[in-house]
Amino acid sequence: MAGSIFSSTLDLFGKTQKRKPVRISDRKFLLEHQKGKCWKCKKSFKRMGVRPIVHHKNLNPKDNRISNLVLICPNCHDKYTKERRRFVKKLPDRLDFQNIVSLK
Ligand SMILES: [Zn+2]
Repeated sequence: MAGSIFSSTLDLFGKTQKRKPVRISDRKFLLEHQKGKCWKCKKSFKRMGVRPIVHHKNLNPKDNRISNLVLICPNCHDKYTKERRRFVKKLPDRLDFQNIVSLK
C-alpha cells in the first residue's frame, strides 16, 4: 500500500495533511541532547512520568529536520496547541489556501 507509512492528521487549518513520522534515532538523539528534560519547562520526563512529545519549532509538521525538532512534555504541548488555536481564531474568515501558504 502506497503511503501507508504516513499518518493523516488535521493541520491547524482543518485540512488533511500528511505528517511524516519522526525517526526513532532522531527521538533518541533529542532525548540525549536535552538530557531527558523538556525543552520548554526543563523538567525531567522521567520525574514527571510522562512521554516526551516531538514538537516542530516552526509549527510545520512536515519539516522533520533535526534543527526543527524538540521534545516537550504534554503540559507544554497543551499550551502550544492552545496558542495555535488562538492564532487560527485571529485569522480572517475569507482566506483561501493560497494565502495560507504565503503566510509561512
Ligand atoms: Zn514542559
